[in-house]
Amino acid sequence: MVKPSSELEKAALARLKERNVTIEEIAELVYDLQTPYLEGLTMEYCLHNVEAVIRKREIQNAILTGIELDVLAEEGKLASPLQEIIANDEGLFGVDEILALSIVNVYGSIGLTNFGYLDKLKPKVINRLDSVKEGEGINTFLDDIVGAIAAAAASRIAHANPEEGTAGVN
Ligand code: MG
Repeated sequence: MVKPSSELEKAALARLKERNVTIEEIAELVYDLQTPYLEGLTMEYCLHNVEAVIRKREIQNAILTGIELDVLAEEGKLASPLQEIIANDEGLFGVDEILALSIVNVYGSIGLTNFGYLDKLKPKVINRLDSVKEGEGINTFLDDIVGAIAAAAASRIAHANPEEGTAGVN
């Protein structure tokens, strides 16, 4: 039976929480991305947009799939060579970014620019996820997923406020 989106939403939020990522931290990334372009932007509004992004089924699917692969890799349960590739976060793998793009694509090309920016600079929570040491966890998919959710939420804000200009365009 097909699960309703609200159940997937609960599962996706629970998964993020289990992996020690709060939606407040994601909202902080959104705030930093959009505050130069939108006067009076609040954290509350950013948080609202992060929640709206996570309400979409495509995005819930990407969150659940990526985190599952990270967890299975942590448990050593993937078949070789995928196990080693994900455990070592091999640079040429690229499927983590592709999965994240399925999140970003929901909100169009501004999302893409923001995602690239976050992926390059790795601010705040992304840096924390990206710099876990060997044996302390695997976030090969999660760092990209978090960046993609933030990028998508920033795009959602930009699209809702077109007269204010947008990150990556102005
Ligand atoms: Mg990655």
